[in-house]
Amino acid sequence: MANKITIIGAGSVGATIAYTLSNETIATELVLIDINKKKADGEAMDILQGTAFRDPITVVSGDYDAAKDSDIVIITSGVARKPGQTRLELTKINVGIIKDIAKNIAQAAPNALYIIVSNPVDILTYVFMKESGIPENRIIGSGTSLDTARLRSLLAEECCISSKNVHAYIFGEHGDSSFVPWSAAHIAGISIKEYYEKYSPNKDTITFDPERIINYVRTSGGVVIANKGATFYAIAVSVVRLCKLLLSAHNSVATVSTMMHGEYGLNDVCVSVSTVIGPKGVQDRIILDLTDEEVEKLHYSAKQLRDMIDQI
Ligand code: NAD
Repeated sequence: MANKITIIGAGSVGATIAYTLSNETIATELVLIDINKKKADGEAMDILQGTAFRDPITVVSGDYDAAKDSDIVIITSGVARKPGQTRLELTKINVGIIKDIAKNIAQAAPNALYIIVSNPVDILTYVFMKESGIPENRIIGSGTSLDTARLRSLLAEECCISSKNVHAYIFGEHGDSSFVPWSAAHIAGISIKEYYEKYSPNKDTITFDPERIINYVRTSGGVVIANKGATFYAIAVSVVRLCKLLLSAHNSVATVSTMMHGEYGLNDVCVSVSTVIGPKGVQDRIILDLTDEEVEKLHYSAKQLRDMIDQI
């Protein structure tokens, strides 16, 4: 089946998503759009030349017109925080950028499904929904899908078990107030704590410590950026997985950021909870039987985002 995916922003994240997609069979046409046209041209050419030994795929750079008839549009454009700049100042700049993009891309690709990746992702997903006129169910923020990948990779590594057997999620903001609803987490039907203590080959050396684990997830992005300047491989794989789920014939569950309409008592904020997504975009949210403390954490996380929205 022919699928067209447009990526806005051909920086580290956008180009790596395009490269990862070029190694998969889910898209037949990739379009890269960037205000730095030369960068988009160079990335498209480099990625295209790497597809010589696979089935044909088109990889081009272009302007908004080139996004026409896209099945999925991924937004990764933005600017990074400069020294001395506050998070709020940066947010205001990236909000300005996405507002501008929203109008242009919604006109060019009104029927696409949208994945917002640029940070702060929950805020920009909210702004894109308000500005683009695209129906809410066709827009998802990558939200805590990357954080969930980081959590699962750590649990799988520490317990020496395939991450396919690890069912655990990160909920809330993609940021400092994210948390693990441990009451809903398990490895092959067994609580994570019990698995660490009974079945993990590392049980004598690695203990189950929820604080250590969430700290690892929350600080991973900062550690990678401190070491290599940016994070792009894990987010690219997470976003490509979302593309697969959206283009698949059936629904799947992912932790993505969507508009809340009373779920867990939350309204008018985009935040990540387990969400059913599929070919028609957002289908539903699964309301887990969370503990009171977990619901409190979700509300705290949503409040951080709501406060930020009020300030912009
Ligand atoms: P980058 O600086 O390498 O790339 C950003 C690109 O956006 C640049 O090429 C720039 O020219 C382009 N751009 C800026 N304004 C534009 C506009 N108006 N229209 C089109 N293109 C425009 O940055 P990066 O490392 O690729 O990161 C991109 C974004 O992704 C950042 O906001 C970053 O924080 C975010 N990110 C999100 C996650 C996540 O989990 N959600 C993970 C990693 C990075």
